[in-house]
Amino acid sequence: MQRDIPRFEKGQYDLIVVGGGINGAAIANIASESGLKVAILEKGDFASGTSSKSTKLIHGGIRYLEHFEFDLVYESLKERFIQLKSVPHLVKPLPFVIPVYKGDKRQLWMMTFGVWLYDFLSGQYKTSCRRNLSTEELLKLEPSLKKENLLGGVMYYDAQMDDARLCLENVLSAVHKGAHAANYLKVQGFLKENGKVVGVEARDLLGKKNLAIRARKTICAVGPWTNELLKLDHPFSRKKVRLTKGVHIVYPTALTSHALLLTLNKDRRIFFVIPWRGNSLIGTTDTDYVGDPDDVQAMPEDIQYLFDEARRFFPAVDFKEEKIITTFAGLRPLLRRAGLPSDVSRKHVVVESFSGLFLVIGGKYTIYRKIALDCVNRILKSLQGVTGVAGAAPVAPTTIKTFQGNRGRPIVADYYPLYGSGEISDSPQIAADRFGLPVKTVEYLMEKYGTRYLDVLKLTEGQPKLKKPICTCSPTIAAQILYSIQTEMAQTPEDIIDRRLGLAYLLCPSKQCEKLIRSQWFSDCHLPP
Ligand code: FAD
Repeated sequence: MQRDIPRFEKGQYDLIVVGGGINGAAIANIASESGLKVAILEKGDFASGTSSKSTKLIHGGIRYLEHFEFDLVYESLKERFIQLKSVPHLVKPLPFVIPVYKGDKRQLWMMTFGVWLYDFLSGQYKTSCRRNLSTEELLKLEPSLKKENLLGGVMYYDAQMDDARLCLENVLSAVHKGAHAANYLKVQGFLKENGKVVGVEARDLLGKKNLAIRARKTICAVGPWTNELLKLDHPFSRKKVRLTKGVHIVYPTALTSHALLLTLNKDRRIFFVIPWRGNSLIGTTDTDYVGDPDDVQAMPEDIQYLFDEARRFFPAVDFKEEKIITTFAGLRPLLRRAGLPSDVSRKHVVVESFSGLFLVIGGKYTIYRKIALDCVNRILKSLQGVTGVAGAAPVAPTTIKTFQGNRGRPIVADYYPLYGSGEISDSPQIAADRFGLPVKTVEYLMEKYGTRYLDVLKLTEGQPKLKKPICTCSPTIAAQILYSIQTEMAQTPEDIIDRRLGLAYLLCPSKQCEKLIRSQWFSDCHLPP
């Protein structure tokens, strides 16, 4: 994947996608699959917005049942199945436990019924079965949970993902199908003819140059920045997005072996404690945000709020701010509706402005494929009859596959393979022997890159120094840094540390890996030592 800026000004695209978060990335991927000539422009790094700040769940959203949003839950459970089957190296099943205490507003029978309904709605897309848990069983599973007044609980399954890499794989897949992609390319205006959008004015933030990029259609998938882009389209545009901030803490050691869904004391909201790469992800908050989306960050009061609640459930754990590995804050781009932030629907809409600019608003990560399909279908419809659009299908293509269902029955469902999808034929041991690496390193690469792990390993042929682990905190090897730059368009140390390799989430007292990446950055070709 090359960041080739001059080519963006050559000719005309069928579609410009503004925003390289999960929605933009998937729109670019599906539109390219439809035969459209696509450009995707991202002002920061791919997934640097909300799409790397999520709770990292591909889930039905059990709490939406309280709002009777059965259609959203069903759709999400179906997408969960498709993602689990299509991208198994990045989306994995995750068992959840809901403990219920005396005095909880959501009583045990409600939780039991809720989980039954959740399972029922998943229908043929069910992954694993729910289970009721007695107090003893629950404490056996999670011994560090508060015991006092515990009445029992329920167990069910959802899925966990690597949000930044899943987004990146969508971009890589789009590029593989012919799309042109660039990060650090910011849209700062729209080209118009007769009042209609015919492209964008963009600024290359690295090369410090302005560009005019032309396209038949333009769609903004800019999540929290939607109101800003609407203003660029028309200065009197009304705000369409409500922003709410969500903060997470990454705390050392896995406090639990299952993900916990807990009810907050203060406001009946739910929050999670989730095992994440050997540590714990605690979150999230949900508060209205009115500032600049570029400035969002975790504030001391957010951390205090999460610690206060976590202490209620883990009385023996001495939560301390100085122990925190990292925090991150993201913005939910919700449809502009009144009410409590957590009560606002997570549904999405695709709208077209007077100038013909398309925008996608709302939604959640889990249903990104469905959101992208809706967007591409709208675009294809609007392109019908437009001259010069080659190969545009009337509906966005989907691939159907038969899967082995939970109870051995075949299930026919959509298949959404990405850049690293597919079966890995070699065992880790074979690849370890071939490349002279520990098995655990090969397994680690298979988890991150899927079938593309071989591309990383091939970089080490004739360059044994690239086999060296860069630190003791993870099996990451030097070749991965090179791969991030050469194939995955990393442009800054943060692109590698935070999103390509996810090193920022790991407990690394020496910070040797981060220091190494930063110190090597300005050397020739950013090559590792
Ligand atoms: P973003 O990821 O924000 O992407 C928009 C992109 O547009 C950004 O990268 C930005 O840099 C770019 N951009 C902006 N302006 C311009 C411009 N002028 N030119 C070029 N590019 C521009 N959903 C789930 O399903 N599961 C979860 O567990 C989950 N947890 C969440 C937890 C939190 C705290 C939050 C905030 C959300 C969570 N969500 C979850 C929701 C989900 O993360 C979002 O719906 C999704 O990531 C939004 O993706 P997006 O592509 O619309 O936005």
